[in-house]
Amino acid sequence: MKQIGRRAFLAGAVGLSLVGILKPQLVTGLISRQPEPAQEEDEVLAEEQPLPEPEPVDCDYILTNGIIIDGMSSEAFPGHVAIKGQEIVAVGDFQWVATAKVIDAGGLFVTPGFIDLHTHTEQYHRNNGKGEMILLQGVTSQIGGNCGTSVKSIGGHFEALQATGVNTGLFVGYKMLRNKYVGEGKTTNKQLEAMQEDLATGLGEGAFGLSVGLQYWPQVYATTEEIIALCEVLKDCGGFLSIHIRNEDNQVLPSLEEAIEIGLKAGVPVQYSHIKTANEANWGKMPRVLELVEGAAASGLDITSDVYGYTFSSWDLGTNRNSLNEEDICLALKHPLVMVGSDSWLDNAGNCSHPRAYGNYPRILRRYVREQGLLTWEEAIRKMAAMPARRLGLKDRGILAPGMKADIAVFDGNKITDCATRSEPVLLSQGMEYVFVNGQLAVDKGQPTGVLAGQVLRQG
Ligand SMILES: [Zn+2]
Repeated sequence: MKQIGRRAFLAGAVGLSLVGILKPQLVTGLISRQPEPAQEEDEVLAEEQPLPEPEPVDCDYILTNGIIIDGMSSEAFPGHVAIKGQEIVAVGDFQWVATAKVIDAGGLFVTPGFIDLHTHTEQYHRNNGKGEMILLQGVTSQIGGNCGTSVKSIGGHFEALQATGVNTGLFVGYKMLRNKYVGEGKTTNKQLEAMQEDLATGLGEGAFGLSVGLQYWPQVYATTEEIIALCEVLKDCGGFLSIHIRNEDNQVLPSLEEAIEIGLKAGVPVQYSHIKTANEANWGKMPRVLELVEGAAASGLDITSDVYGYTFSSWDLGTNRNSLNEEDICLALKHPLVMVGSDSWLDNAGNCSHPRAYGNYPRILRRYVREQGLLTWEEAIRKMAAMPARRLGLKDRGILAPGMKADIAVFDGNKITDCATRSEPVLLSQGMEYVFVNGQLAVDKGQPTGVLAGQVLRQG
């Protein structure tokens, strides 16, 4: 790995912004204590007595002197972050109470916890997984039930869920609906109505939308019209379509066109899952794929996509094949409508077959930010936190600001590194120093604490 001197690294990472730029709008605790515009009598008084020091911020934890990437500002800035209970209470330059536990974040990035909206890890969480492989990537929230494969009952899953290490949410999966009412073949109106009812129930219980995986049996039997009809439920109940398109290699373009047609006709937002142009014959098609996405966005569709940082998919495991190429991945990762998602899966014991479950986020930070400079740190963090939060409609996560839930990642930009590989997929990532989940310390000096502070995430 290329080593960069600290000074060069900082200069590259945050530019001139280290020279004391503060974000006054973030320090709301201080702004509210500003004196009223002075009256004439007060002016005399003010001359005699200096203005009182602002009261120190009351907090449980204070992360001091970090390089803050708040997810909104275009550039990092130096400052502190204060946590009280489950929430962030101050960001910027301020004094704090003497009782606060101090964590020195000097030289470390302080960012919102990452939100992974494309996972298949719901059974792992249900089986009381502590999530250390997830937390050590800086990920504090995961949404499961993607590609059409979900739990049967959203409400039942949440009821049975014990304490989890990270925040978790779900989609209603089309495969589950189709298996229950249709199986293979054509869907009758009655079956469609039954699926619509179940979908509405799941959305009412907090699912973020409908997931489909049109490449998979028996979902391949779905007609475009059938998925549009199901998406009309989303229009009534809220949520979006998370779509693994019908084909991701030779037919990737018409398959994406179908996804766009569904979104436009149903009038619902679309999350185009794990964008890729698989197999060598299709390498180089990514610009056309991205053009289609841009065109759809220009015609009014709320469409975004997600990508993981590997040149091999789960189809390639067990072979030496890399069905994806680096250039296409870079184009996708760089694109403003594309965020990061892992597509990760874990078994009940926390094992996996693809290293992305243990390494996707540190890998993108190491390889595509630190080593290649494809993205700035600020861009990468936005794709890992604020963008997925917006897509999910999570109003209290994804950025660092007072009033937001204290999901926070603190890491060394020179050290953050994935260790999991194709042959050894369950090696934990390194360089994540501190992680907070809902105000509780889940990683302390690089070690998972075992705290189970995760909450259920629901739509709306
Ligand atoms: Zn998929």
